[in-house]
Amino acid sequence: MSTGQGINATINMLMTFIIGQVFLSLLCATKFGLFFIFAFFVLSMTLFVAFFLPETKGIPIEDMPKVWSQHWLWRRFVPSEDSTRRVEMGESVMSQTLKRRDSTVTREVGDQLIVTPLGAGNEVGRSCVYMSYKAKTVLFDCGIHPAYSGMAALPYFDEIDPSTIDVLLVTHFHLDHAASLPYFLEKTTFKGRVFMTHATKAIYKLLLSDYVKVSKVSVEDMLFDEQDIIRSMDRIEVIDFHQTLEVNGIRFWCYTAGHVLGAAMFMVDIAGVRVLYTGDYSREEDRHLRAAETPQFSPDICIIESTYGVQLHQPRFVREKRFTDVVHSTVSQGGRVLIPVFALGRAQELLLILDEYWSSHPELHNIPIYYASPLAKRCMAVYQTYINSMNDRIRNQFATTNPFDFKHISPLKSIDNFDDVGPSVVMASPGGLQSGLSRQLFDKWCSDKKNACVLPGYVVEGTLAKIIISEPKEVTLMNGLTAPLNMQVHYISFSAHADYAQTSTFLKELMPPNIILVHGEANEMGRLKQKLTTQFTDGNTKIMTPKNCQSVEMYFNSEKMAKTIGRLAEKTPEVGETVSGLLVKKGFTYQIMAPDDLPVFSQLSTASVTQRISVPYSGAFVVIKHRLKQIYESVESPPVSESEGPALLVHERVTIKQESEKHVSILWTSDPISDMISDSVVALILNISREMPKVTYETAKTDEENEKTTEKVVQSLLVSLFGDVKTNGPGKLVINVDGNAANLDTQTGEVESENESLKERVKTALRRIQSAMKPIPLSASS
Ligand SMILES: [Zn+2]
Ligand SMILES: [Zn+2]
Repeated sequence: MSTGQGINATINMLMTFIIGQVFLSLLCATKFGLFFIFAFFVLSMTLFVAFFLPETKGIPIEDMPKVWSQHWLWRRFVPSEDSTRRVEMGESVMSQTLKRRDSTVTREVGDQLIVTPLGAGNEVGRSCVYMSYKAKTVLFDCGIHPAYSGMAALPYFDEIDPSTIDVLLVTHFHLDHAASLPYFLEKTTFKGRVFMTHATKAIYKLLLSDYVKVSKVSVEDMLFDEQDIIRSMDRIEVIDFHQTLEVNGIRFWCYTAGHVLGAAMFMVDIAGVRVLYTGDYSREEDRHLRAAETPQFSPDICIIESTYGVQLHQPRFVREKRFTDVVHSTVSQGGRVLIPVFALGRAQELLLILDEYWSSHPELHNIPIYYASPLAKRCMAVYQTYINSMNDRIRNQFATTNPFDFKHISPLKSIDNFDDVGPSVVMASPGGLQSGLSRQLFDKWCSDKKNACVLPGYVVEGTLAKIIISEPKEVTLMNGLTAPLNMQVHYISFSAHADYAQTSTFLKELMPPNIILVHGEANEMGRLKQKLTTQFTDGNTKIMTPKNCQSVEMYFNSEKMAKTIGRLAEKTPEVGETVSGLLVKKGFTYQIMAPDDLPVFSQLSTASVTQRISVPYSGAFVVIKHRLKQIYESVESPPVSESEGPALLVHERVTIKQESEKHVSILWTSDPISDMISDSVVALILNISREMPKVTYETAKTDEENEKTTEKVVQSLLVSLFGDVKTNGPGKLVINVDGNAANLDTQTGEVESENESLKERVKTALRRIQSAMKPIPLSASS
């Protein structure tokens, strides 16, 4: 393939050169020739500088050929060898380096792939990304925006027709990824299927029930209630990591994403085009979670989070030390530490850190740590259930003791049970200080400078947590009053999102030709786009940052490939050889197989129908053979056994046998050709019989036979008149009408009955029948 393109490119360049020469010669012949040559030279230099120089600044001269070979202008003429290779499923590719496929394709209707963020486009919150390709639609995530309430928190669902969505894939349980699911399932026309991992499903229920209880909105503003959540549970199906599922021709599977327990990144394959949606992910292993995996297949499109943009995380041990230092110094000076967190996820990581720290600092044992959430106890139970999906560290620890069975931390259900008398550490939800326990404690403690508030995760735009990071002098309390903000505010991020280093390495390993950034504030996202553009200088990588409801359109080559399978695949066909078999289409995959292999490789089965038809024919059998030979080339007489009569075989498909003196039978296995031959054979035999002179013999009937026939006719006529007529010996009939019986002797015409009127009716009937049958008395004819 590359050789062919190389030749094409060479021809292209030669043609350009020749046309250029002809053009220049023509110009020289005119009096403006020199001026044009000068203008041409200036133009070429400008183009050269414009195309090559911006990307070659500061590059040593010896690296120039390499840089230019990567330049898009160069690559347009000389395609690189690896640009078209692609890693196929089923090969052992883990150790192979990933190759991207050529993204330059011709545009055709139906090849258009659309990605539209309905939420999380240039923002953090209400993650929901719509994707459609070849009439298949997938929705990734279904979250709410934590800074808004009611309908305003929802993704822009009215931009799409929910009833057209085939699959909805939820990456993890965080509210900004899962909390509009009950609404979407119960209040829209969506009728597709929903998938998430086991852990996500378990925690989703807990978290959303809590969300319904905690959110302080009016009943009209409630997006859904507890019942909606329970109903939604029945519709959610679970998927294991690395398990491949197929719905409506859409294949998908998921990888560990780090971030929180059960978090997954989804790879979707529609007609061979692969899209990776990362959701929130982290490539750093922490105290309990595994790091995100690198998918073994390079996707055509990578929809990736950009929360931390170009920021770099401090090493984990540095952040942990800062955190424990702040907590230690605050409590030892008699202060209280408030840690607003999401009830689940990072909270568990911080609890592990605090419990371990307290264990190694006996001097702190008299200072209580509370995990304040209405769900505290149940959250712990869920985490203990899913220890197996956590990292080796925690599983090894679990062998001796349960790491989530904390020694120094007590659950706190509400503020009423809280005895706030001295220094303490309280971890409370929600993380954004919008309402609930964390907000109640914040309002209570914010004016005392001895206290501290540690914000341990990403703070969403529009929440109080985001406001206090800039340390304003005053804050508005929940009751509407203002209070001075004296407590210290520390922002030490433990949120398990990728930073720039992780994002860029991840993308370098995957090399997707199309990158779509979502889940990031506009500025942060813009900076990331810029930095990534300088990283992927080959010009073949597109980086896009669509806003909400803004569609990204891409085109993919819709070349169809059919694979031979089973018996057909045993031998490699020669070039030019015809391969024939059944083409079986399942979703977007095509397979060619031998008809006998059909039940083995598909759920379809084959059956052969044997047909047999009997045709009246009383002529000589050789006549049939003679006539058939006039029409068909191959008419054989197979060897005949003693028991069977003569037979003929037409084109080895249809057999004609002499069944009896008056019938021939035609046998064949049904298929279009044999059906056609048999039809013509039947027509031919029927025609022969028609052409033959008919000789019929009149056999004189005996009187006895005549008598019997007459009797039968009389009886059936009587039945049509009276209904119940039975024979009672030869020539004798019993007629029953409404419980009255009449005995009739058909020979003599005598009728006996107790009922006179019946007797008369039968007599009359018999007389009429007889006169109808024998208008002239028998005696007269003989
Ligand atoms: Zn998240
Ligand atoms: Zn998120």
